[in-house]
Amino acid sequence: MNGEAEKVRVIVRCRPLSSDELSHGHSNVVNADNRANTIQLLHPDQTQEPPRSFVFDAVFPPDTNQILVYNVAARPIVENVLKGYNGTIFAYGQTGTGKTFTMSGDDEKPGIIPNSFAHIFDHISKCEHDITFLVRVSFLEIYNEEIRDLLAKDGNGTQLEIKERPDVGVYVNKLSTVTVSNASQMLRIMEIGSKNRKTGATKMNSESSRSHAMFTVTIESSENGHVTQGKLQLVDLAGSERQSKTGTTGDRLKEAAKINLSLSTLGNVISALVDGKSTHIPYRNSKLTRLLQDSLGGNSKTLMIANIGPASYNYDETLSTLRYANRAK
Ligand code: ADP
Ligand code: MG
Repeated sequence: MNGEAEKVRVIVRCRPLSSDELSHGHSNVVNADNRANTIQLLHPDQTQEPPRSFVFDAVFPPDTNQILVYNVAARPIVENVLKGYNGTIFAYGQTGTGKTFTMSGDDEKPGIIPNSFAHIFDHISKCEHDITFLVRVSFLEIYNEEIRDLLAKDGNGTQLEIKERPDVGVYVNKLSTVTVSNASQMLRIMEIGSKNRKTGATKMNSESSRSHAMFTVTIESSENGHVTQGKLQLVDLAGSERQSKTGTTGDRLKEAAKINLSLSTLGNVISALVDGKSTHIPYRNSKLTRLLQDSLGGNSKTLMIANIGPASYNYDETLSTLRYANRAK
């Protein structure tokens, strides 16, 4: 570190009350203001606690559409990756608040990942003919501090190891890398990996919400023998909810401890980068931060989208997400 503080952009997105929440009469405790970029959180019993207010780099209220999220939040990072820098986008939050909706979306409402595919190949198609591009993707998940390849031909049963080499830095040994030549091919690969994430979780008698999914796009461009490479990391994090509340025991408790460790390490790494005074960045304390070592800090741009739900019964988790996000600024 050269003592220069890193800028990490932090955006909060609040999803709408679901039809289920509406039918159960849950009230809304979140005011998201996209002009002042503030989130106001009201305590369900307002005689007990005053409202709390937080300011972020941007705030997306429940009616914000996926394209706006892409243009405001993700587009600048992807532009930077196309120029040869690294960029990382995280979706953080309690399970059920819209992390996967924000990152992957669905067929009708594609999220950041598919929108980035369209953006990347649109850019490539408009470039001068003497620039050539090589776009490669990989997709892995970290579950219980174990790395699994979501694009493995023989299923995702084998646990992969992190290695380090002076010339390439930190990498995952034997991880599948697929070269792609258009946006729809990339989309198919994302879908295969997402399906593997779900079936893998079912086999292990778990839930995909307990794993971090990391989709990596490497873009290499060469012009007159001059090669630049940018790497985009798109991370759908494990649910941030406290597990103890649900009466967790045994293996589930260990699993919960590992999720907590990796999310708190991520928070510590980001705040050390933001703070700029730390001489030690604790990348090595979790697989997630170890793998992202060259994509957090330095010339890379980092964005965290903290997802929250608006319902009163989520008050405690929402407050904890807002505090986590606030610390990353
Ligand atoms: P997570 O990945 O954080 O567990 P999901 O992305 O699966 O949460 O979202 C939970 C549910 O809420 C899904 O049915 C999803 O479609 C819906 N949802 C999430 N965010 C939004 C949003 N901004 N607008 C509309 N529906 C949303
Ligand atoms: Mg999810």
